[in-house]
Amino acid sequence: MALNGEALPLQKTYHLSGLEKRNEHLLHVDEVQFRGEGRLESGIFTVTGELTGQYVLSCARCLTANQVDFSIPFEERFHLENRLASAEDDDLEEIHQVEGNVLDLTPFIEQAVLLSIPYRPVCSSVESCVQNIPQSGENWRVITEGEQRKEVDPRLADLAKFFDDDRN
Ligand SMILES: [Zn+2]
Repeated sequence: MALNGEALPLQKTYHLSGLEKRNEHLLHVDEVQFRGEGRLESGIFTVTGELTGQYVLSCARCLTANQVDFSIPFEERFHLENRLASAEDDDLEEIHQVEGNVLDLTPFIEQAVLLSIPYRPVCSSVESCVQNIPQSGENWRVITEGEQRKEVDPRLADLAKFFDDDRN
């Protein structure tokens, strides 16, 4: 490669599949755009750039599927020359060995996308979770705190009345 030190613009669309099996909150991700550059210096090819796309995450509070835009910084280093890592390399950041003549970024992009998913993804606010949760169903409904106070066990109803009178 004759681009020692020069930046090589890189741009590619990756179609990721099967990532949903690797994160319980990830419901869907497909197209991820990579835009960045590669630079070769002293046999090490450094790829830097940004991954953008959308994924669908389930809310950890209400289980609603939310479409989320992401923009993830990306940086990985590769040894382009096949050689055993020397002791010196141990002090450096992790450098990946390229197998064969093709540098496939897919596994690194998958990893970056998975790492960007919050440990507990949630809706933008508790209010939107509440709106997303059905408020009633067969034989059940969500009651407000006020309603809960009023719905007193009939055996205690008389007592409740007593306290109400007392407050007046
Ligand atoms: Zn939610």
